[in-house]
Amino acid sequence: MSPLQRLIISDSRETIAAELNAVFPTIGPLERLKLLVERVPGRTVFTTSLGIEDQMLTHLIFTGGLKIEVKTLDTGRLFPESYTLWRTTEEKYGRRIKALYPKAEALEALVDDQGIDGFYYAPEFRKACCGVRKVEPLGRALDGAAGWVTGLRRDQSANRESMEFVGYDGARDMIKANPLFDWTRDGIRAFTEAEGVPVNPLHQKNFLSIGCAPCTRALQPGEPERAGRWWWEEETMRECGLHIEADGRVVRAKDVAPGHQHGDAAFERLDAGEKIPEGPVA
Ligand code: SF4
Repeated sequence: MSPLQRLIISDSRETIAAELNAVFPTIGPLERLKLLVERVPGRTVFTTSLGIEDQMLTHLIFTGGLKIEVKTLDTGRLFPESYTLWRTTEEKYGRRIKALYPKAEALEALVDDQGIDGFYYAPEFRKACCGVRKVEPLGRALDGAAGWVTGLRRDQSANRESMEFVGYDGARDMIKANPLFDWTRDGIRAFTEAEGVPVNPLHQKNFLSIGCAPCTRALQPGEPERAGRWWWEEETMRECGLHIEADGRVVRAKDVAPGHQHGDAAFERLDAGEKIPEGPVA
């Protein structure tokens, strides 16, 4: 029995994910998306960060008229270029990209606690910021959906090599699909140029993976694609005196970023051993 024939008779989300994973390498990105719409038993959501991979997927979904909800997480800290791209994409395709925002009270508490740029001072603060601005809104973006589409590629970083085209996210009971998993950046760039897909002009300035403005920098020649994100964390530990003792206690550093002040209250809570929940980051 072929993988496609098996797909027709399966029904659990886990089984469907495994069988889609077997079929995906044999078909192209548009067919992958169409098959998801056909086979995922419920709503499918695509979360776009407006990067070049996500713009290609947005193009395929909108021009293909596919029943996939396109959503983005507006952290409030995106580059101006990303907001412009968001608008021009909606104008080009005549479709709305639904935005999810952080909860106002949680954001106010975060900034009150660690300062406006607290993420520079300790990895725990960065994770807390991502938790409020990204992880919690992502949960609402995916709430009730059965399928989740992302623009992840296998060659973006070492830990992504162990991922699959389609997997089953047991924690969320969702089918998670990466339709561009086997595509290269050059291939995606060629597609967007040929099809007139709008892309972020920052890509031309060596910003390959684009997230929040204060947490993204341009790459130097030879650096891996994800090196431009949260680049200070390793260096902060090594060069600025901020480190965590063997017992987990955070030792305070000198100012990490000129002009920024440490969130003392937050540091004191860390000193006292409080754990800040960790969440995934895009
Ligand atoms: Fe906060 Fe930076 Fe994470 Fe954006 S990427 S949510 S600014 S820590």
